[in-house]
Parts: sequence; structure tokens; C-alpha cells
Amino acid sequence: MALDEIVIVGTGQGGFQAAMSLRQEGFGGRITMIGEEPGLPYQRPPLSKAYMKEANAERLQLRPESFFAQNSIDLVAATCVDHIERDARIVVTDTGSRISYDHLILATGTRNAVPPIRGIKSDRVLGLRTMADADRLRTAIDAARRVIIIGGGFIGLEFAAVARAMGREVVVLEAAGRLMERAVSPDMSAYFERMHVAQGTVLKLGQPVVEVEDEGPGRPCRARLANGESVEGDFILLAAGVRPNQELAAAAGIETENGIVVDRFLLTSDPHISALGDCAAFPDPRTGARIRLESVQAASDHARTIAKRLTGKPAAYDALPWFWSDQFSAKLQIAGITSATGKTFARASDGDGFYVYRFEDERLVCVETVNAAREHMAARKLLTTTSEPISWRDMERTGFELAALMKRPETAGA
Ligand SMILES: Cc1cc2nc3c(=O)[nH]c(=O)nc-3n(C[C@H](O)[C@H](O)[C@H](O)COP(=O)(O)OP(=O)(O)OC[C@H]3O[C@@H](n4cnc5c(N)ncnc54)[C@H](O)[C@@H]3O)c2cc1C
Repeated sequence: MALDEIVIVGTGQGGFQAAMSLRQEGFGGRITMIGEEPGLPYQRPPLSKAYMKEANAERLQLRPESFFAQNSIDLVAATCVDHIERDARIVVTDTGSRISYDHLILATGTRNAVPPIRGIKSDRVLGLRTMADADRLRTAIDAARRVIIIGGGFIGLEFAAVARAMGREVVVLEAAGRLMERAVSPDMSAYFERMHVAQGTVLKLGQPVVEVEDEGPGRPCRARLANGESVEGDFILLAAGVRPNQELAAAAGIETENGIVVDRFLLTSDPHISALGDCAAFPDPRTGARIRLESVQAASDHARTIAKRLTGKPAAYDALPWFWSDQFSAKLQIAGITSATGKTFARASDGDGFYVYRFEDERLVCVETVNAAREHMAARKLLTTTSEPISWRDMERTGFELAALMKRPETAGA
């Protein structure tokens, strides 16, 4: 069936990329983007990095306003899609508008998780997901002497680095026994632990926060840990993970399970509805296991996959996931993913570089680097292009230098 009208719910990274890719792939029909947030689509990564210092909102915009007019993309901002009438193929907004679609793309992202901690609803507990959140945090940090951060993941630690660089006292509270536990190897966690401590950040690991106490304006607030210890600060950043925005899909009877369930082509259980990015639970091309990724790269690659399918060039999503995080002067880059606790090999370079190679069943599956852009790029290329998996023995033979493996005949010309 020819498609005339495509509606995209969510005007974040993935929703924007879907609209742009549809035009690049030659889609000539109507595109309507509907987003809950005000203003133009913008990128989130700088919110916990440069934006905290510079507050330059224009630099966050993915494209200027003129782009949307030039590409005939209707942007409906500050509007929430309330529900989907699948039989009629209509979305209904919170303002009562009814917008019909031939194909619907759900790009609804995630929201901050709120763990069951007594007192967590206090006004002094702030989140960091949107530009509005970042603006609130900047006001709070200007007036603060000490900042408490609940969560030692990417966002919590990026904010910790910014706050330290601004001269604030910083305490990071992490329930797990190590930093960024879900995302990186124990060696890499230890590297970042040393770095944050050396910069003067106080880390308290392995103790969940059980209570937040707020005595009101002008008085400090406190986070109490499971072991009874109490930490005092001027405000708290809650950065304890996210939840997928899947309720819109679930209410319409679309399959969800830790995200909106999609197939290898990013199609949901309804053939007229796709889902992408942070909210999509998709089959890992390498293992087949259903996963959800929270990264710009995954959202953008998903969007391109959907745009190709909707313009008659279907191809399954098979991109290699990669991630980055900036903390102080350390640029962490990760190529590939693994949840396994298999063999690892860690090494430092002469400069400030640090490398961790992670294996599953003797195969290299993930490479974590700090301040080593060339090694990261080599890892992305090798993990994507080699038909033969790279084994522990291959790596051993080259003294754990990916550059040497780049000279293998099959990758040299790739
Ligand atoms: C502070 C911060 C730092 C980050 N840093 C990095 C980084 O360094 N590297 C990296 O790769 N990733 C980073 N990320 C993650 C990255 O930004 C996300 O993975 C990416 O934005 C996902 O894109 P998305 O389109 O799936 O969702 P989003 O960009 O979150 O967009 C979803 C949009 O949908 C809207 N929406 C939801 N429901 C509705 C509805 N019913 N109606 C209308 N609109 C709706 C939401 O309001 C939101 O605007 C960071 C995220 C944050 C918050």
C-alpha cells in the first residue's frame, strides 16, 4: 500500500532522525512530528556536559527552524499524544486533535526512574532528562556548596565531573558495588573510581539510599543510606536509571516488555506501527536476545532502518552499538556490548589512554577505551567487518594491539 501520511510521536533524537531519513530516502508524503516538549528537536548528551557550563540552547538544536519548512515536516510541539485508535489509524492528542496516519512511528524515549525511597518526591530532588531539567539544575548548582548525586552511572558521573569543575563539593551515592556497573567492565569502573576520587569527589558505593530528608528552604537536605549513614547537601540529583515510555503503545494493545517490542526491522506487533530508540525492545543482531539501548547511535540507526523499510528498501537492523561518555578530561568510548563477565584484558598506554578488551567464549565482543579515539575506531571497524571473530589468541599474538589486526587481509580492504 502506498504511504501518504507518516506520523512520528516524539520529537527527540530518534524521532527527528526518522523524519530526516524519510526525506533523504525520497519519501514525498506528509510527515507530522508530535512532541510533548516545547521548541525544536534538540540533542540531550550536552545537557550533562557542555550545556551545564555554557547554557547555549541554540547549540543543542538538531536543525534550525527553517529546516522543517524546507523539508515540509510539520512539527507539532508542546503536545502530547494521548492515545492511538489503531482501527481507524488515528492518533489523538491532549488538545483533542485527531491526526490520521498510514504509518505511525513511536519514538517516545524514556523517563527517569524514581526508586521507592522515602521522601524522594521532595522539591530538592532534581532529575536530568530535558533542557528544562538542565536549566533547573543550573539554577540549583549556582546557589549550592555541596551536591549529592544518587546514581553512579553515565549521567550521574558526568554531572559530578561538571559540578566538581565548578568548585562544588560532590558526593556520589551508588547502590551497586562499582561505578557504571551495567555498562562497563570492572577494570573500567576502577579506572573511573580512581579518577573521580583524585578529583575530590566522595564516592559511597554498595549502599542504597533509603530516605531523603528535606527540612525546607535555606536548610540542607539529607540522603540516608541503608547502613544508617547520612549525607548532607544543598540539593540532590536523582540519576538512577530510566523507564521506557511504553504506556501509549500498551494501552493500544501493542506488545510491550521492558519497551515496545519490535522485530529486526523495528516493526511492532501492528504492521502499521514502528518503534525506535530508547523505548524500543529489539532483537540483538548478534545474539537474538531482546535488548533496549539508550544511546544516540542506536536511536539514529533505528530511524534509518525504518526510513529505508518505509521507502521500499527493507534491511534488518544490524549496526554495531557504540557509546561515549565525557567525564573531566576522560573520553570513554565503548564499541560493542556484552553483559557477560567473561575474560577481559586491560592495559594503559604511555599517555593517558586506557583500554579494556572484553571476550565471550574467547571471542572479542566489546572494546572500552579512554582517550584513545583511534583504537575505538579500529574496534568499531573490526567488530563490524570481520567475518571471522577475533579470538583471545589473535589478540595475544599481537600483544593486544587492534592496530596490528587491522592489517589482516580481510579488513585491510574493508
Ligand atoms: C543528560 C543526558 C545525557 C546523555 N548523554 C548521552 C551520551 O553521551 N551518548 C549517548 O549516546 N547518549 C546519551 N544520552 C542518551 C540519548 O540522549 C538518548 O539515547 C536519545 O535521546 C534517545 O532518543 P529517542 O528519540 O529514543 O528518545 P528521546 O530523545 O528521549 O525523545 C523522546 C521524546 O518523546 C517525547 N514523548 C514521549 N511520550 C510522548 C507522547 N505521548 N506524546 C508526545 N511526545 C512524547 C518525550 O517528551 C521526548 O521529547 C543522554 C541522555 C541524557 C538525558
